[in-house]
Amino acid sequence: MRPPPTTINTAERLATRRLAEALELPAFEPGWVWLAGAGPGDPGLVTLLGLHAISEADVILYDALANEALLKLARPTAKLVFAGKRGGKASCKQNDISRTLVSLARRGGRVLRLKGGDPFVFGRGGEEALTLARAGIPFRIVPGVTAGIGGLAYAGIPVTHRDTNHAVTFITGHGADGKLPALDWNAVAKGSPTLVFYMALAHADEIVTKLLDCGRDAREPAAIVSNATGEGQSVVVTTLEHLARDAKGCAAPAILVVGENVRLREGLDWLGALNEGRILKADPLERARLREVS
Ligand code: SAH
Repeated sequence: MRPPPTTINTAERLATRRLAEALELPAFEPGWVWLAGAGPGDPGLVTLLGLHAISEADVILYDALANEALLKLARPTAKLVFAGKRGGKASCKQNDISRTLVSLARRGGRVLRLKGGDPFVFGRGGEEALTLARAGIPFRIVPGVTAGIGGLAYAGIPVTHRDTNHAVTFITGHGADGKLPALDWNAVAKGSPTLVFYMALAHADEIVTKLLDCGRDAREPAAIVSNATGEGQSVVVTTLEHLARDAKGCAAPAILVVGENVRLREGLDWLGALNEGRILKADPLERARLREVS
């Protein structure tokens, strides 16, 4: 267990409760487990339902990727339990977490399982919820902003854009056995113009090799977004051929993205414009020039 952060005044919790009432959000009943997404890092990206759950829960089991600042809104009496792993180290066993959720709920607690991003996107939320279902524990899923969408938005990269991609594929670089998942890489490479990778720093080399072997263009734009939406966010724009090399210097957690939509960052890096005075290009895809040529 980690030291709990200081709990702030109850005024904030009261305000959250008023919001919940005004919006007729569901009550967090004793004996229930809510599996909620905390968003990718910026605490402002948690949903209202997530916030409501945080302020009402008796016990909160939170992941490494959930922003701890959110826990300031917990009840002063709430038990805050760190149940995550960082950098693949010292993990709380998944079975232990699921069992803990069951026993806490059986004791009549309002149990919140708070996960980074969205609980059902590469977050094992499904596994935990299945354990609850098997044990007959009532549960609610509170979706969150996933890193592969919200994180890219903070990097100024729209996950879809009419001029670049009508489809996107989300892929995990880390299978249950720790290896790169055995996907049909030919289908992955051809399936959609934009590929978004989670947990892919360790196997970036292998991923790039597979994509190039399956016909993706070495010069395709790519980016690595580390600590997306958090204070330490960093973005490296590169090409597919240099993606693995450039990923080596990047901190976890990171999202890797491959596709023409990455080019839009030159026009849409709103955070760079805000923080560094970056001048945004009006026509990042150079459509005007392309029209002249054709
Ligand atoms: N459920 C989470 C994903 C958990 S898997 C979600 O929906 O976002 C963990 C992976 O998510 C990390 O290895 C990384 O690829 C990605 N990730 C989570 N938070 C991130 C962040 N703030 N910045 C970049 N990548 C992040």
